[in-house]
Amino acid sequence: MATIQFLGATRTVTGSKHLVEVDGYRTMVDCGLFQGLKELRLRNWEPFPLDPASINSVILTHAHIDHTGYLPKFVRDGFNGPVYATPATVELARILLPDSARLQEEDAAYANKSGSSKHEPALPLYTERDANEALRLLDSVNFNKKVQLTNKLSFDFVTAGHIIGSSFVIFDFESLEGRRKRMIMTGDLGRYDEPIIPDPSDVDEADYIVVESTYGDRDHPQYDVKAKLAEIINETARLGGHILIPAFAIGRTQQLLYLIRELEEENRIPILPVFVDSPMAVSATKLYLRHKEDHDLEMTDLMDERRNPLATKRFNLARTIQESKGVSAEEESTIVISASGMATGGRILHHLRKRLPDERNTVIFAGFQAVGTRGRRLVDGAPEVKIFGEIVPVRARIERLENLSAHADSHEILRWLGGFNRAPEKVFLVHGEPGAQEALKDKIVEKFGWSVEIPEYLQKFEL
Ligand SMILES: [Zn+2]
Repeated sequence: MATIQFLGATRTVTGSKHLVEVDGYRTMVDCGLFQGLKELRLRNWEPFPLDPASINSVILTHAHIDHTGYLPKFVRDGFNGPVYATPATVELARILLPDSARLQEEDAAYANKSGSSKHEPALPLYTERDANEALRLLDSVNFNKKVQLTNKLSFDFVTAGHIIGSSFVIFDFESLEGRRKRMIMTGDLGRYDEPIIPDPSDVDEADYIVVESTYGDRDHPQYDVKAKLAEIINETARLGGHILIPAFAIGRTQQLLYLIRELEEENRIPILPVFVDSPMAVSATKLYLRHKEDHDLEMTDLMDERRNPLATKRFNLARTIQESKGVSAEEESTIVISASGMATGGRILHHLRKRLPDERNTVIFAGFQAVGTRGRRLVDGAPEVKIFGEIVPVRARIERLENLSAHADSHEILRWLGGFNRAPEKVFLVHGEPGAQEALKDKIVEKFGWSVEIPEYLQKFEL
């Protein structure tokens, strides 16, 4: 007996958790945090729909918090099996989960201090200690290496082209009638022909496909992203303003640094100080040197400080609070990249509070902005936003560079699906807002004639 049950990222883009059960063995693909709308965030606090102790293993597709950030709570509530992930995902999770815990703890401390919580005292969803407990369970698995979970169920990872370490999970299992079946789950599907990150892997056959649909209803605009970035940087610098880019310290940040570096070398922009402001601001260069399977940069360039494509000419990492305060006190025009990418928390909030009221500044959103987040309100043109309980007027210029998104657009999702050489029994669409999912479903049916499901929260299907 084989089933799949959808415990998150159903008709929404966060909280990815998909439970696969084959003959009583339970493995969950991703263990993500819900973000955005309050009714979703409340799910993080509710008891998990099944006993976590009854789940045998977890498999992570990549390190983003909407795919891993629930793990510390899950472990505290009783899960105690192995957590499989690629080597770079393991390394990123070691940076990211304790940081997520610190944010939870800071939020709770702030709620207690300001009396803004109905709970006395407000508690964090999980603590740094919980995160460290969860990290003990991580088990690193290389790409293309088969892991036999039971005699009827195995999986392997292939590259997803989304961020460093990102993978698809390919399951091989025995169905009810004793037939061999294959199911592929994309996690987040990356893009084609991007600098640094390889293309998503081609997969030629599967009986079931679980695919993300963040941009299922649209294509990334076809403009020259470098030219647009140059225009924004030049215009903002001319006014003496600052450029803020909300983004997680690893992934999009390196794509941006790569482009800024190229623009500097082509003399198309002034050489400005560039700061990556994050307690997680590890040297990405070291990470990329250790995981050459995850990118297509020249190792010789990475090792040469003058040619390093992941650093700009006046490049700085701000790790401590003190350094971060120095960044926001800069008078000269700066480019600051800081988390979180949807402006839901993290140091970017301090920068936004300071820089949003000044019309000389520009905020650039490079990733998807989920419903209910501050980032979404800003790209939708809100005249003011609330930050740390304070109303902050928005006078800065707000820009989107959707071409820098790490997610495949509708055209790219269809291109990837077009690589399968036979029709699957079923395609499940996850990780998308309802409009995007309906649009993608129509396109898949029209183009391939396949059977497509958009699962509801907790819905279960027999495989
Ligand atoms: Zn992701």
